[in-house]
Amino acid sequence: MKVPFLDLKTQYDSIKDEIIPAITNVLENTAFVLGKAVTDFETNFAALQQVKYCVATGSGTDGNHMVLWSLGIGPGDEVIIPANTFIATAWGATLCGATPVFVDCEPDSYNIDPEKIEAAITSKTKAIVAVHLYGQPADLDAINQIAIRHNLLVVEDCAQAHMAEYKGKRVGGLSTLASFSFYPGKNLGAYGEGGAVTTNDPLLAKKVLMIRDHGAVNKYHHEVYGHNYRMDGIQGAVLGVKLKYIENWTAARRNNALKYRNALEGISDIILPVEMNYAKHVYHLFVIRMADGKIETRDRLADFLNDKGISTGLHYPIPLHLQECFKHLGYKKGDFPVSENLGRTGLSLPMFAELTDDQIAYVASSIAGFFNIIKSTEPKVHSISSGVGTF
Ligand SMILES: *Cc1c(COP(=O)(O)O)cnc(C)c1O
Repeated sequence: MKVPFLDLKTQYDSIKDEIIPAITNVLENTAFVLGKAVTDFETNFAALQQVKYCVATGSGTDGNHMVLWSLGIGPGDEVIIPANTFIATAWGATLCGATPVFVDCEPDSYNIDPEKIEAAITSKTKAIVAVHLYGQPADLDAINQIAIRHNLLVVEDCAQAHMAEYKGKRVGGLSTLASFSFYPGKNLGAYGEGGAVTTNDPLLAKKVLMIRDHGAVNKYHHEVYGHNYRMDGIQGAVLGVKLKYIENWTAARRNNALKYRNALEGISDIILPVEMNYAKHVYHLFVIRMADGKIETRDRLADFLNDKGISTGLHYPIPLHLQECFKHLGYKKGDFPVSENLGRTGLSLPMFAELTDDQIAYVASSIAGFFNIIKSTEPKVHSISSGVGTF
């Protein structure tokens, strides 16, 4: 059986009859950049996320940048960012000329550890980026308490967390500003690049709107510095169609996660993702971890599953503080042990709304099979067998 990591084609086939006329409509109206499809999507997406304003943009990375830019973050400023996230979170700071300062993640949620934030704060710190990684909200109350104490701004990176909830409220409106990504593989994905910034603050919404379009509200009247961070009309149309299904797709992801849990909970060699009591997790990713803490076990399991037709992913094998591009910041191995351990032993299983029961059962039985084989071939005390490559 083949189990892809992600199956965009099955989803496309299920909505093709609505997508094609929606795209044709954009073409017929030649509304190639922004336009009604994008404006309608902005209104509906803001409603979905329970936030007042939504500004659609070219990508989540654009959104990460606009969020900090609109707050006036610049050279000399420091921005606190989890070590365990996708690199684009850090680009938000670096594109503003600011310096990212990394903080380790929690061993259960894998999100930024609020208890470790204060040690990273200096007189230059301006903001904390709360990333809702894998689809689970970060502990915003704890983060906000620290921010208030030190007079810092809090923003959200919701690229993996469409419809996720913190204490019953949707993310995206729970901080000063938030960014979303509509990269095709995200929970709500365009058919190309796409992103959004959301906020409840009308002045910040206007600022983001200006930055998106060359610093102008009225054409050729450039009030502030800006950029071209506009969304394509076709992406607005695609996202408008997909918005009708996101509730069902999110429920399906949660249901698939539950099925994985039921099928995998007896395997003591792996650690399942923890859904925090304050969170409604939307399972952008379903990340398991090796209980023995060994990279060899994770890599052998990934190879074993791959041979069985099951694709897996790594999120993220190298934490940000150990990336080559941040070498000048002076971090070293061992600085953030939780993120580093997750990078060595985390494995993302196939996760998408259209996963079938048979696929989930096959993934689970294959994982169980792997650990049974490992145990039966484990080198005994007096054995000279290496235990490697025996299956
Ligand atoms: C995908 C992602 C981004 C960037 O989004 P793009 O649309 O690919 O630019 C930013 N942050 C996180 C956490 C992401 O997963």
